[in-house]
Amino acid sequence: MRRAVCPGSFDPIHNGHLEVIARAAGLFDEVIVAVSTNIAKKYRFGLDERMDMARETLASLRGIIVEPMGEGLLAEYCRRRGVSAIVKGLRSSSDFDYELPMATMNRQLSGVETVFLPAEAHYVHLSSTLIKEVAQLGGDVSDFVPRSVLKRLQAGESPAAQSRS
Ligand code: ADP
Repeated sequence: MRRAVCPGSFDPIHNGHLEVIARAAGLFDEVIVAVSTNIAKKYRFGLDERMDMARETLASLRGIIVEPMGEGLLAEYCRRRGVSAIVKGLRSSSDFDYELPMATMNRQLSGVETVFLPAEAHYVHLSSTLIKEVAQLGGDVSDFVPRSVLKRLQAGESPAAQSRS
């Protein structure tokens, strides 16, 4: 069985992530969406909520598991979970420049390959950070996130932004 991992902080998960995860599910028997937590990072949503949003959104797709990545190296996680490929979406050449050394390091550490999928043109500009900023200022992000995420983003908007919707 070929098992892949889509790692990320998913703070929150958005349609660009979902599109890449769905394509990965078409290429592998099982895809783990591994939700990471880095103590140096400040998250908008806690780990449980980030996992809930991913689970709610991916419930209809077969062969997908959502779980915490835990602490430590991704290469070690892949070894522990029997993962043969890391799947990453690429939005730009800067994504590639950032990802390439990590892909090489992960292969040298544990033999795991990294598979890059070009981001879908419609979602190529999306990042969790940009979506949070736009939502915070009352912008309409409903084309970019699933419903369960939209509800949570709206729940956290400023009163001024909420009164406009
Ligand atoms: P990070 O782990 O850097 O916080 P994210 O959780 O935002 O990253 O994203 C996890 C992964 O999802 C990224 O490494 C990238 O492979 C992919 N990704 C992010 N945004 C997009 C997008 N708009 N289109 C396709 N793939 C994306």
